[in-house]
Amino acid sequence: MTSDLQDCIARYWGYTSFLPLQREAMEAILDGRDSVVVLPTGGGKSLCFQAPALVRPGLALIVSPLISLMKDQVDTLVGNGVPAGLYNSSLSGEEKSTVIAGLRQSRYRLLYVSPERLVGEGSDPFLELLSSCEISFVAVDEAHCISQWGHDFRPEYRQLGQLRRMLPGIGVHAYTATATARVRRDIATQLALNDPVEFVGSFDRPNLLYRVLPRATLKRQLLDVLGRHRGEAGIIYCTSRREVDALSTWLTDNGIPARPYHAGLSDGERSRNQDAFLSERIDVIVATVAFGMGIDRSNVRFVVHAGAPRSLEHYQQESGRAGRDGLEAECLLIYSAGDFMKWRVMLEQNGELTDATRSLLRQMERYATAVGCRHRHLAQYFGDRYPGAGCGACDFCLDELEAADAPVVLARKILSCVVRVGQRFGALHVASVLRGDASEQVLARGHGTLSTFGLLPDASVAEVRGYIEQLVGVGLLQMTDDGYPVLGLTPKGLELLKDETSCPGLTLARQRAPRKGVPRAKSRVETESWQDVDPALFDRLRAVRLEIARSRGVPPYVIFHDVTLREMARLRPASKEALLEVRGVGARKAEDLGDRFLEAIRAHGS
Ligand code: ADP
Ligand code: ZN
Repeated sequence: MTSDLQDCIARYWGYTSFLPLQREAMEAILDGRDSVVVLPTGGGKSLCFQAPALVRPGLALIVSPLISLMKDQVDTLVGNGVPAGLYNSSLSGEEKSTVIAGLRQSRYRLLYVSPERLVGEGSDPFLELLSSCEISFVAVDEAHCISQWGHDFRPEYRQLGQLRRMLPGIGVHAYTATATARVRRDIATQLALNDPVEFVGSFDRPNLLYRVLPRATLKRQLLDVLGRHRGEAGIIYCTSRREVDALSTWLTDNGIPARPYHAGLSDGERSRNQDAFLSERIDVIVATVAFGMGIDRSNVRFVVHAGAPRSLEHYQQESGRAGRDGLEAECLLIYSAGDFMKWRVMLEQNGELTDATRSLLRQMERYATAVGCRHRHLAQYFGDRYPGAGCGACDFCLDELEAADAPVVLARKILSCVVRVGQRFGALHVASVLRGDASEQVLARGHGTLSTFGLLPDASVAEVRGYIEQLVGVGLLQMTDDGYPVLGLTPKGLELLKDETSCPGLTLARQRAPRKGVPRAKSRVETESWQDVDPALFDRLRAVRLEIARSRGVPPYVIFHDVTLREMARLRPASKEALLEVRGVGARKAEDLGDRFLEAIRAHGS
């Protein structure tokens, strides 16, 4: 059976090997065992049910929550020569008849359906037709939508519990990227799975480079990260719609075409903006966190959070949209202690401030202010063990952070300054006093004569603010809302002022100033994926792909993923046979598109 699967993925997808757990997940389908498959974003979930659909006889039903996602998957399958169709409310009457006729003639091996279409009341001609088809198995994609404990509960998913009764004896398989055990159990119960096999992948994403910056001048920080990703796709998350609109206008005015994406836009405008992003007419989308599931594009090379989300689960989900194709991508979190305070206020107003939400928020804050390997931090939070020493793909391991000398002395300087200003001011004011900034605000309040005035004369504002955030993070300072954010000491902070040995092991770090003209270090994945690749050829192949995509009215990644183009640019195949060696080029695509790409490679010369 494995060899059938192996032949199948080589022929249709041009893949020579399985990603972790793919083979096991596929075999569960072939064995007729129910299963729950949890793989991280980019882990290759769709292949887990697509390949068995071609190996097992009959028609596989794929339940998928998003119409746009469905269409992309079906377009990609058809492009690979796989007979697949979809049925949902977006189809015209004529398109529906075509699908129905196709089902009657057993023309499809996979049929994508929306959940509400699959479970109907009374006698429904579509369902009757389905029950007369030979169904090979049912796959429920994005299965966490069935659980209230997941981050994206969809009531219409609940009805899928009826599947078991509707299709007795047919295997049901659930797929999700949501890790928690509670959601997993809930999925199995809600779908009435029968003793399911569970596959849970590793959640670390080695191709993602994590960085965290305390918020300083946001626009300068954004220009810096955008400068590293010219011509590449990215998502910028903001916490408010107002900020989304302002930022996308500002970016566009500064020569980086960007579009907004949030709940305040009309459906039409939102889908136009999404479409512009997916079809590569623009590269940057600015979004609120509430919306985002639809803006998946496999070659997102950076995800910036201009403000911290409310939990690490959210952060993982949103930042996880980067690098789905397995190539290098950067996830940058720009945060300030004020973000967490705003969340607390907002949760309180909505009656959602519970021990659970408070603790999730606290964990997010810990991540932001931690001085250590980000990959390890995330892995441990999600219950994975993280082997080895440095990850080589985070600000800490790339040595972009620098530990401050004498952290306890430094902390005590800052704490006593907070006390001296009466615990009535925010971080910016405290930083001004410590730096000895003789500004009007400082002098007017008589703070120019404090003993803590000018204690840190050589530190930049961003640096001092960074220390303050970290002190909040480790629980020595706290920030409260007094109409504006106000810093105060916690009992632990007071203790440190009295007893300098009360906080052993305290570390504080600052961003190492980037040296002029010296580019930032690259992650191992980035270095390797560009090895022997001529970037100009890669760009040329992207242009060919874009042209084909435009003429066929599909998004470019439906033609080929970036990984495939990058490998083409590395191997420079000169014949169809050589082209088939490139990962991601199956027989159908080599036939259909091969000449265009071979021609571009030839024309590029060496
Ligand atoms: P998920 O749905 O889990 O986020 P996808 O199904 O979108 O992941 O797959 C992620 C990427 O990995 C896609 O670019 C896909 O083409 C690629 N991929 C999947 N399986 C394989 C494989 N066996 N070999 C190489 N690439 C693969
Ligand atoms: Zn690291």
